[in-house]
Amino acid sequence: MRLKLLAAICLLPLAACGKHGSAPVTEGVTDAMIAAAPEGEWLTYGRDLAEQRFSPLTLINDANVGQLGLAWSHDLETARGQEATPLMHDGVLYVSTAWSMVKAFDAKTGALKWEYDPKVPRETLVRACCDAVNRGVALYGDKVYVGTLDGRLVALDQKTGKVAFEKVVVPNQKDYTITGAPRVAKGKILIGAGGSEYKARGYLAAYDAQTGDELWKFHTVPGNPADGFENKAMEAAAKTWGNSKWWELGGGGTVWDSITYDPATNLVYFGTGNAEPWNPAANGREGDSLYTSSIVAVDADTGEYKWHFQETPEDRWDFDSDAQITAADLDVNGQKRRVVLHAPKNGYFYMLDAKSGQFISAGAFAPQTWTTGIDPKTGRPQINPEAKYEKTGKPFLSVPGAGGAHSWQPMSFSQKTGLVYIPANLAAMPYAAAKDWKPSDIGFQTGMDGALVAAPADKAAREGAKAATTGALIAWDPVKQKEAWRVTFTGPWNGGTLSTAGNLVFQGNADGVFAAYSADKGAKLWSFPTQTGVIAAPMTYTVDGEQYVAVMAGWGGVWDVATGVVARKSAGHYNISRLLVFKLGAKGALPAMKDLNQLPLDPPPFTGKPEQVAAGADKFARYCSVCHGDAALPGTLNPDLRRSQYIFAAEGIRSVVIDGVLMHGDNPKGMVSFKSALSPDDVENIRQYLIKRANEDKALGEK
Ligand code: CA
Repeated sequence: MRLKLLAAICLLPLAACGKHGSAPVTEGVTDAMIAAAPEGEWLTYGRDLAEQRFSPLTLINDANVGQLGLAWSHDLETARGQEATPLMHDGVLYVSTAWSMVKAFDAKTGALKWEYDPKVPRETLVRACCDAVNRGVALYGDKVYVGTLDGRLVALDQKTGKVAFEKVVVPNQKDYTITGAPRVAKGKILIGAGGSEYKARGYLAAYDAQTGDELWKFHTVPGNPADGFENKAMEAAAKTWGNSKWWELGGGGTVWDSITYDPATNLVYFGTGNAEPWNPAANGREGDSLYTSSIVAVDADTGEYKWHFQETPEDRWDFDSDAQITAADLDVNGQKRRVVLHAPKNGYFYMLDAKSGQFISAGAFAPQTWTTGIDPKTGRPQINPEAKYEKTGKPFLSVPGAGGAHSWQPMSFSQKTGLVYIPANLAAMPYAAAKDWKPSDIGFQTGMDGALVAAPADKAAREGAKAATTGALIAWDPVKQKEAWRVTFTGPWNGGTLSTAGNLVFQGNADGVFAAYSADKGAKLWSFPTQTGVIAAPMTYTVDGEQYVAVMAGWGGVWDVATGVVARKSAGHYNISRLLVFKLGAKGALPAMKDLNQLPLDPPPFTGKPEQVAAGADKFARYCSVCHGDAALPGTLNPDLRRSQYIFAAEGIRSVVIDGVLMHGDNPKGMVSFKSALSPDDVENIRQYLIKRANEDKALGEK
């Protein structure tokens, strides 16, 4: 009977069961269920296919949210950053955690039903820009789908967590990683990969939900013209890269987060990452570099190009357009329109026509210095000549920086207030072009001079940088392109948002607080101390007539590992990564916080030469700072090298950086050997730089 049914579906001309598609499932979590977005469940990453993250539930509302308490919590085995939105179906909560692990809980009691560990090799971290995070799973039929950091698509049985199939889906496991949540469209699993700081060629692909076989793939940047173009879109894009050999480094444009399948248009909208390398002069790149830092739309059945809108032409600031894309029906100038709403890293909020990609309007939701404005007709930015740092030969202090005015942290759109709730970062970053830059076998391939703009060992300068780095929850009117209200925070990199029909917005923040605000006015109505910073987005569901709100706690991602002096401005303590679940009247409490156990800042005396420090600073900035922090000022996820025992002797640090002794072992550390890029002399220079840096910071009073 089931076979017959599948055969019948395949005869329908639109189902396209041949080359381009598999049959949609008819049991378990179906396309129709996901499209209907039942109010008590949360079946896909953004709750509904439009990715609005708006729940119609009102059991918890602005009148009673003060009675919200901890129903249950689950401590995770890792202190790494947590970015996932849990899904809920049929009383079971499914969540992915760091290292792409998946767990299933009884959504009412918190009892663990099963857990799955894909055993991602820890050394994968060296090719993942931004921590070992994962943003979520997909549910479809009787399966749970997760993309792993090392590039596998894994399908698990919803009931048992047993592997149904797994496949390596990235072109290679050296340059590509998966951190995003897969999405579902009519029998297909949609997922891309990250890697635009390595040697990646961006793409979005669709895989058969039953087998993992690739059904279609759309590249976001052209390959080597000598190999021929896959389609007309690639041929057109190849004219926008100047005379560079962009394909040698991949070109970037990776699809590492936002994927929105919109049944209203039968299109898949997705965001693309930066052009590679960041510094265009590093490989002679000229022009817009399509389709990087853009929204692209393709046909959901075939992957065929439909439209694109480039938000950041000639990107040289890592202004990924990978932030979540939300679809909505809005009244615009008296006309009902299907639109897409987007708040990418570059600081502008965009509204586009969903069917054609036509630009409707834009407004700056955060301060920015890289443009002098936006063309109101075309939406094209007018780039500030000073921002072209590779042309001026001078460093450029840009607001926003590579962390983005808004990154992957999900925003939400309330159908009641018409407002979009954006977790915004208000922060600057200096950019400088490296001279005579060459690609390497390992690490970032950005063409930047990180040593030139590293944080100075100067108390006033550091305090100034910290003071200028904040964050806000911004309620934005997308039609008026105007702010309605805001809540400001100590620091940037706060959590994603959930809005509900109970006139509520929920958000966790970097200060270690999970709070509820009134959606119309931004009044703080309730809060809970999470002991740990929150970056993930909350979700909500009902079981047995009670409404629950769930959120993952655990700070991390790029802001922890790479940003140096401003890394832990707000949540200045170690993670206790957990799943937290709340309901009205609950009285649960978290255990008392543990001590930090941080090694003292007690370095050997500095006896090196200034030229060693200069050379070490340069190598550190290029190969080490992305994980161990700008100017060796780390967050809390990766070791603080200023406090490390390995800087006391040349052999010590060499055993790690050249011989790779911390790569494997019972408790995998994942610190790979850098011997393809660094000589023993380089490593000794880095050691002298670290000793110098440690002594400088000790002199500034750090303990
Ligand atoms: Ca990027």
